[in-house]
Amino acid sequence: MKAQELEHQDLLSGFIRMHILHHAAEDGIYGQWMIEELAEHGYRISAGTLYPMLHAMERRGYLSSSKTRLGRTYRRVYVATDLGRDALAQAKLKLRELFREIVEEARHS
Ligand SMILES: [Zn+2]
Repeated sequence: MKAQELEHQDLLSGFIRMHILHHAAEDGIYGQWMIEELAEHGYRISAGTLYPMLHAMERRGYLSSSKTRLGRTYRRVYVATDLGRDALAQAKLKLRELFREIVEEARHS
């Protein structure tokens, strides 16, 4: 099952990171919510793939996290940092440009 999860991972993981940043910039996110959100968009991703991604993004300064108490346990909530918002803004410009070329122009040719 593991091999099938997130097909073309190298290629698509940038989209997933952008998606994470998008929601982390709007509101705090946590792992399970993000897994379900991604599933709605057609990305099958497990906790074992998502969590290391979140940790790496935090290590690189795009996200910061804090623990929130949830009954007897804790939930780690991630928000986008200023660096993360900056990266997202740049990624959006690149995405728009790429979209224009590979989606819109293809439609007209
Ligand atoms: Zn979304």
